[in-house]
Amino acid sequence: MTRSESLFQEAVKYIPGGVNSPVRAFGSIGSTPRFIAKADKAYMWDEDGNQYIDFIGSWGPMILGHNHPATMQAVLEACTNGLSFGAATEPEVIMAKLICDIVPSIDMVRMVNSGTEAVMSAIRVARGYTGRDKIIKFTGCYHGHSDGLLVKAGSGVMTAGVPDSSGVPVSVTSDTLTAEYNNPDSVRTLFERYGEQIAAIIVEPVAANMGVVPPAPGFLQSLRYICDQYGSILIFDEVITGFRLSLTGAQGYYDIKPDLTTFGKIIGAGMPVGAYGGRRDIMEQVSPVGNVYQAGTLSGNPVAMAAGITQLTILKEHPEYYTQLNNTADEFFNKIKEILLRKDLPWQVNHVGSIGSLFFTETPVTDYSSAKKSDVSAYAHYCNQMLSHGIYIAPAQFEAMFLSLAHTQEDLQQTLDTIAICL
Ligand SMILES: *Cc1c(COP(=O)(O)O)cnc(C)c1O
Repeated sequence: MTRSESLFQEAVKYIPGGVNSPVRAFGSIGSTPRFIAKADKAYMWDEDGNQYIDFIGSWGPMILGHNHPATMQAVLEACTNGLSFGAATEPEVIMAKLICDIVPSIDMVRMVNSGTEAVMSAIRVARGYTGRDKIIKFTGCYHGHSDGLLVKAGSGVMTAGVPDSSGVPVSVTSDTLTAEYNNPDSVRTLFERYGEQIAAIIVEPVAANMGVVPPAPGFLQSLRYICDQYGSILIFDEVITGFRLSLTGAQGYYDIKPDLTTFGKIIGAGMPVGAYGGRRDIMEQVSPVGNVYQAGTLSGNPVAMAAGITQLTILKEHPEYYTQLNNTADEFFNKIKEILLRKDLPWQVNHVGSIGSLFFTETPVTDYSSAKKSDVSAYAHYCNQMLSHGIYIAPAQFEAMFLSLAHTQEDLQQTLDTIAICL
């Protein structure tokens, strides 16, 4: 038995499923988790000493690679001053100003501890600001695990949300309406029926939690347009895309201004951080200025801020990093397409910038129902093969592959060679 296997045997006794987040469980590829001991740059090592080229990067935060020296130093220095004070600190001001300086749609920002919290809070603010209760989300988009967002696709666009998890009361999801990604008509239908009651649309501007699904041309614009028409708030969930597709995230990449934005992942450089921000008149609804209550004992934690400030500052000072990363990623994903052609395989490769997915289906993937056509057992086989060849990709079909600035040309070539073997 490997050390990972024996750790997993112990883990399942004390932690549900042996993991603290379900996608780490490897259940969907019929395997058990590799327990990771350490990481550096684009590599990770498991408890058995196996080395991997890492294409998860902690699900996005590690855009500069693991153990970036400046980030590590900032964190270690911050630690020497104390881990948490529960009082106002200078790093919070620096972080907030940095985000507001970088992202034009953001006048004010509030720090939280996770993407889930950021989304949950942004929705509360949108409801408080508009005095309306209903929200629209898209089937297949993930916005964290708060009750109101764990919603199954309705059986038709006119049905109210049905909980997608036990423990979620129907009453909590009854104000969550679901529309189809890349289908503006499905949004219009909901607005025609409920327009004056809709507080907000929340969307992943590039869907990355049903595998990567890019927005069709005009889709995001149509959301902006209809929100303006009905006085609803447009929330971009940029927990993955923020500071990744471009310095100004997907909103900069596609040149669309949301009213509110949520961040996580990259913003904390690996520490547990989230944030939500946007227009001043909306953000001034948040307590203690306004009447929308939202709080957090550890929010804006000085060690977490040190990590986030350092990573965002590096990204801000190096706009060329995005050109470099996106060009490298274009080439990489195009080469996967070439492998498919060469091997006469009909599968789909979707990518935007440095996130992408390989779907085992013959039809283009543009929304949740087309993503669901992917042959998950083929993915499971492929993924296990990749892992055994030292390439660490998401242990589930409906996740993204994340490239970082630490991946070298050699790492990427080795990965392409391995993909050619494993497909
Ligand atoms: C990961 C993710 C979240 C949730 O963030 P957590 O930090 O895991 O709570 C929310 N929205 C999107 C788009 C995400 O990818």
